[in-house]
Amino acid sequence: MLSVDEARARILSHARLTDAEQVPLGQAFRRIPGLASVLAQVDVPPFANSSMDGFALRTADAPAELPLAGEVAAGATAPMPLQSGSAVPIMTGAPLPPGADAVVPLEEAEMVGEDRVRLPMTEVGANVRARGHDTQQGDQVELAADPLSPATIAVLASLGIGEVTVRRRPLVAIFSTGNELVAPGESLGAGQIHDANTVSLAAAVLEAGAEPVVLPRVRDEPAAIDAALREGSASADLLVVSGGVSVGRHDHVRAGIERLGELAFWRIAVQPGKPLAFGSIADRPVIGLPGNPVSALVTFELFVRVLLRGMLGLTGDGRVHLPARLDTTVRKDRERRAYLRVVVRSDRDGWLASPAGGQGSAQLRSLAAANALLVVPEGEPAGEAGARYDAVLLRGVS
Ligand code: AMP
Ligand code: MG
Repeated sequence: MLSVDEARARILSHARLTDAEQVPLGQAFRRIPGLASVLAQVDVPPFANSSMDGFALRTADAPAELPLAGEVAAGATAPMPLQSGSAVPIMTGAPLPPGADAVVPLEEAEMVGEDRVRLPMTEVGANVRARGHDTQQGDQVELAADPLSPATIAVLASLGIGEVTVRRRPLVAIFSTGNELVAPGESLGAGQIHDANTVSLAAAVLEAGAEPVVLPRVRDEPAAIDAALREGSASADLLVVSGGVSVGRHDHVRAGIERLGELAFWRIAVQPGKPLAFGSIADRPVIGLPGNPVSALVTFELFVRVLLRGMLGLTGDGRVHLPARLDTTVRKDRERRAYLRVVVRSDRDGWLASPAGGQGSAQLRSLAAANALLVVPEGEPAGEAGARYDAVLLRGVS
């Protein structure tokens, strides 16, 4: 049995970076930038403008009661120069008229009749956003190697960039195996269960920033499995198969990978999820995940997600890790590293982890309720109440 770390390293060695492609900014949310930075071609803002609705003035003229002349609104193309000894009503975002050096907000001004205003003493530059206040032409604007956020998309838009270079989303073919499986929404016959993995793995693929290609369920028959393995590996950057990788008489996926390509390894010292087959068919990586639905999602998290991130040029698991105290002793297999489904919350002594429910590999509801996986190392027979372990956050902590 390989350790989790060895298995991860071996899987990651198959991460081939996807090509870069251009997408319009409107489609760039959560895409992974293909460049480390972009060169600013313009100043942002491109001209000095008012940050408030108020009155533009020459600071040398205040404090004073000044006559008003004209008006400058946002979008004004060529505001008249400000005559000394006067003030001009100006709106947020409007260009500062030549000659003006500050803006007094409406709230700090006092109208005197219709066309005069009393303005207080004001500092040069007050309420004015200088040209290039956010970004200057020639700046290298860094793009974190992270999914593009609304804020980064706004930065690019403000620079006038309409399209951004991103990594192509890896295509992930998915199929589930098992004679017992029936599509959710259909009624069950004797001995049948609903297929949880096809849809859960497709969702996990999306969460990892890749694109699922869902193939039909396959019966536990070698010929059918071989055909699906061939089709899946030919049609995607990665093939993920659920079920059929254990030692049962009807587990044909591992043998299928051996028949059609190469099997690199098939057991990992992890709980849940020991049977996981990794190999390649026609030079494309193939991962056979255990069919138990919790094992399938946890091993996806540990092994498929990091591979997809590697294909996108990202390192690590992209999760927040924090040390959390387990509040209850939870027994585990001594040989394997356990990933306990827990709810992490903060208390007076830091972070506290409580089991989110039953830890069986078919007990899906505890995984849905968990906000973290708590890592209890191999070599230990249990996660001990009061001991601290690494918690891998799957989502926010409330
Ligand atoms: P397997 O890995 O094929 O031996 O399956 C292990 C367990 O997971 C069995 O109880 C299967 O019925 C169950 N299982 C396999 N595939 C799925 C699936 N797609 N959805 C829900 N349960 C599954
Ligand atoms: Mg099966």
